[in-house]
Amino acid sequence: MAQIIDGRKISAQIKDEVKEQVAALRRQGREVALAVIQVGQDPASTVYVGNKKKACEYVGIRSLSYELPQETTQDELLALIDGLNERADVNGILVQLPLPGQIDESAVIGRISPLKDVDGFHPANVGALCIGRPGFVSCTPAGIIQLLKRSGVEIEGKECLVIGRSNIVGKPMALLLLRENGTVTVAHSRTRNLKEIASRADILVAAVGRPRMITADYVKEGAVVIDVGIHRNEGGKLCGDVDFDSVSPRCSAITPVPGGVGPMTIAMLMKNCVESVALQDAGSLRG
Ligand code: NAD
Repeated sequence: MAQIIDGRKISAQIKDEVKEQVAALRRQGREVALAVIQVGQDPASTVYVGNKKKACEYVGIRSLSYELPQETTQDELLALIDGLNERADVNGILVQLPLPGQIDESAVIGRISPLKDVDGFHPANVGALCIGRPGFVSCTPAGIIQLLKRSGVEIEGKECLVIGRSNIVGKPMALLLLRENGTVTVAHSRTRNLKEIASRADILVAAVGRPRMITADYVKEGAVVIDVGIHRNEGGKLCGDVDFDSVSPRCSAITPVPGGVGPMTIAMLMKNCVESVALQDAGSLRG
């Protein structure tokens, strides 16, 4: 029987740890604050932003909310970011993606001070991760490392396969597994013989964006399977990139959807907000 890796429980532990750290900072007279910017009223974004604000409230981080109209220009958004970059009382800046078509996302991400980029998307933070320097790490892959470590899964020396090479999940995931001394392979839409490659993996991370694509025939007996995908099926039920029912009897541990990777993203965002204080004190990403 596979161990079910409980993301709800582990994310709650992390949020409680963050809450302690925020309280300790407050005792030193320091407040942690996150600015959350949403442009337009995409319903999914509104839910995500609401959840982030709720998490801030739980851990004691002050959240500053900026709800901008759909027709906001890029210059207006950049001017807001410039102002927040300058403010000493703002530690983290988060711009909810996706942005309306008139705004270039990479220009916006690039404008956030790397020291306040709690999403870990700024090229300076991606570069810092790549060369093993301190910096912010994208929340979902950072959360997966926590899931593995706190479930007693050893990464060092293991064959790790990341399926997906997006900038926010696949690539940083591969770099983090490498940092933990895994032997890492990255597969993507042009990969040939995916089943054969996957059947060698001790740790398989599926970030493909295709409902239940990873079936038992992709998975090595005893592997650890991490499912990043989130989809809603025809009946409105959530499912992942992994076909849980066929895969779980084959593996040693697996994350469910919902209740696996999903809750970790916001917990790691909170952790990044607290860590931003030390990074800002240091004044640069150089460690
Ligand atoms: P994406 O669409 O940007 O990237 C998908 C990747 O999968 C691409 O790199 C592509 O090359 C690869 N791919 C597509 N088809 C493939 C195939 N047939 N074989 C092998 N590789 C293939 O998606 P993303 O932003 O990385 O997200 C992946 C999934 O994770 C989505 O379902 C998304 O909703 C989910 N997600 C969840 C969280 C969370 O908090 N749990 C966070 C981010 C993304």
